Amino acid sequence: MNSSSCIDISRKALQKNLGFIRKRIGPGVRLSSVVKGNAYGHGIEHFVPLAEECGVRHFSVFSADEAYRAFGCLSGESDILILGDIRDEQIEWAIENDIAFYVFDRGRLRAAAEAAERVGKKARLHVEVETGFHRTGFEPDEFEETTAFLLDHGERLRMEGLCTHLAGAESTANDFRIQKQQASYGEACDYFRARLGAGFLRHVACSAATLLYREAHFDLVRVGIAQYGYWPSEETRMRYLMEHRPEGNKRFRSPLKRVLRWHSRIMSVKEVREGDFVGYGNSYMAARSMKVAAVPVGYFHGFSRSLSNLGHVLVQGKRSPVVGLVNMNMMLVDVTECPRAERGDEVVIIGSQGRSEISVQSFISLTRSVNYETLVRIPAGVDRVVVE
Ligand SMILES: *Cc1c(COP(=O)(O)O)cnc(C)c1O
Repeated sequence: MNSSSCIDISRKALQKNLGFIRKRIGPGVRLSSVVKGNAYGHGIEHFVPLAEECGVRHFSVFSADEAYRAFGCLSGESDILILGDIRDEQIEWAIENDIAFYVFDRGRLRAAAEAAERVGKKARLHVEVETGFHRTGFEPDEFEETTAFLLDHGERLRMEGLCTHLAGAESTANDFRIQKQQASYGEACDYFRARLGAGFLRHVACSAATLLYREAHFDLVRVGIAQYGYWPSEETRMRYLMEHRPEGNKRFRSPLKRVLRWHSRIMSVKEVREGDFVGYGNSYMAARSMKVAAVPVGYFHGFSRSLSNLGHVLVQGKRSPVVGLVNMNMMLVDVTECPRAERGDEVVIIGSQGRSEISVQSFISLTRSVNYETLVRIPAGVDRVVVE
């Protein structure tokens, strides 16, 4: 789309995060890297091969369309699992290419059996069960019919996993609900094992459950946000910190490192006199003579207009405020405090520069969003590059 800004994807940060997560889960548990939402804004085509180079062999996507993209940039050794949407006409493609997918209702189960019959190959299924999230999943009163169907179609259907999703492991407020889910999941496992044997993977954990609840790890964990270097919530970070408080008065250093850094450059600089309005309308008036830099990133590039007169970027290591309204393709930044700022200087939108950092978190408190949403909103069209 444009080269007015660029996103660096850090190999070293990813290696650190994966190392940390692997240590948490131990050698007996598989790690599935969740790369839905264009790899949480990092870009599937950049992130997936990098993660594979870093030893990841299992990837989870939301849709068949994302699976198609991941498939195109993987070596063939890695597994792909579709957690959500597949149109019926895409099921054959998934089966032909050994791509596993969730089944959570009778309709998809039948469609899978029919497609497998046509393709002449076994479908790899992860059966999602309802445990209290109430989004998708087989209800307990459907287990009998489901297991019978799987047994009847054993030639064409392989149950590779039994899974569920927890309703908000990132907040203690949900503990009671999650404990009930764990109990229901345990019952579902017993039921399926009694009828189909124990040859399937059990998995329930997202990042928060992976970081906080060892008993939720089972055979595989589905880790999204943490591998990119973010805590699922402030509360998860605090709970982790309470359990791993450093000795004495040493500073807590987060084991999660941000993989993404988004930067642009100053396009032009100008002096503004006291009393002049800056940009469209009258939302910003210079209270003193000041120096203003134009940066070629606007809401078209994913820098929200709601950050007008609110957001910050880094210039020469200093937090510099956005002044006036964010335009479609540009924003103006007050660089009065950086007297040497000039055309071509790097501008950091997310990430660090010198000793300063603009975190996704600092966006969130301004836009009342969550880090997940802020990340995935970074447009797919911004150039991405893998750096060491
Ligand atoms: C998104 C998602 C995950 C990963 O969640 P994170 O909080 O980003 O780790 C895991 N499982 C399912 C089913 C998901 O949809």
